[in-house]
Amino acid sequence: MAGRVVMKACSSYERASVERAVEELFEPLGGPGAFAGEGQSVFLKVNALLGAAPEKGVTTHPEVVRAVVRQFQSVTDRITIGDSPGGPFTAGYLKRVYEKTGFAEVARDTGAELSLDTSTTTVSISGGKVLKTIMICGAMHSADCLVSVAKFKTHMFLNMSGAIKNLFGSVPGANKFSYHSRFPRDSDFSDLIVDVLLASAPDLHVMDAVVAMDGNGPRVGNLIDMGMMAAGTDAFALDLAMMDVIGIEPEKNKALAAAIRRGLCQGDSRGLEMVGDEVGSLRYRGFRLPDKKDISERVPDFVMKRFGERMALRPVPVEGKCTACGKCVEICPAGAITIEGKLARVDQKKCQRCYCCHELCEQDAIELERPMLMKLMRMNRGI
Ligand code: SF4
Ligand code: SF4
Repeated sequence: MAGRVVMKACSSYERASVERAVEELFEPLGGPGAFAGEGQSVFLKVNALLGAAPEKGVTTHPEVVRAVVRQFQSVTDRITIGDSPGGPFTAGYLKRVYEKTGFAEVARDTGAELSLDTSTTTVSISGGKVLKTIMICGAMHSADCLVSVAKFKTHMFLNMSGAIKNLFGSVPGANKFSYHSRFPRDSDFSDLIVDVLLASAPDLHVMDAVVAMDGNGPRVGNLIDMGMMAAGTDAFALDLAMMDVIGIEPEKNKALAAAIRRGLCQGDSRGLEMVGDEVGSLRYRGFRLPDKKDISERVPDFVMKRFGERMALRPVPVEGKCTACGKCVEICPAGAITIEGKLARVDQKKCQRCYCCHELCEQDAIELERPMLMKLMRMNRGI
């Protein structure tokens, strides 16, 4: 059953439709009892990137989370919903995010708990490529059963955010963003994402693609009606199957490409055991990847080592978009952002290039600019 992927059409977030689709996803996988026994603890690791309302399509839709909770309540009442969003990993910040995303309401309605646990634990990564150990959220690690409930979106660094990428949220708070500066090449960052998945080792993955996001995700892309959900026990197989649904070669999902390079999964969806609705009936045409063109991969290693810092993209607040709300000031781990008048300002000398502000600004008011050195190299090398 390891490579089995179940797919189901689901045209809206209307409660009965979602509950039926989730039940039909679970059934070919053995039902909730195949993953958790009576009285065991289940942690639903949702995508709660930031405190955005469900209709923004940035986070896992609460109706999907509610339906997964209902499934597990047939075997246990120890169910926790949680994530480690970007930003401070504090109970107060988590509460605010859970309220805005609708997860708090799901918890109130179903009796599930919300995770306000900010403990961390360091785990070793068997088969890790760029990391041998990593710090992850203690509550996710200690659950008897970890279930990832992901949102299908694009991602400017990795092209896609799916089953593999969702587990990056198991890295506590702003710690995850420091990896952007530590692994500036997308290929290394993709290996890191795979390492985190191996460290977290979820038991089950559920994918919310009823409304998905294409274009310049993961926060301000276009919302698209894909009208489907999927589930499986193998994140690589699930992401392979989803790439098949959108008709884009698997390697464009950079995390998946890293897994293929490392021999952790096959190179395409042929040979996967697909169950449920036919891929052909779910196919989404015209899916758009982010338009960011990565050029760091074409820069030689010695240049990256010597000038990497001077070639990193720089966060720049945009006048006219920035509302001076101050949220980026709150989340910046380097204390590099201040509000001056009606505009955020980034001290580029203090900036650690974590891109936390770019990823979390709800006004899309932080652009990433190429530094002059990169622009010159691009002109000279035609890249
Ligand atoms: S850049 Fe974004 S988060 Fe920062 S102050 Fe402006 S609008 Fe707020
Ligand atoms: S200003 Fe720099 S360090 Fe601060 S959040 Fe933005 S990218 Fe990260």
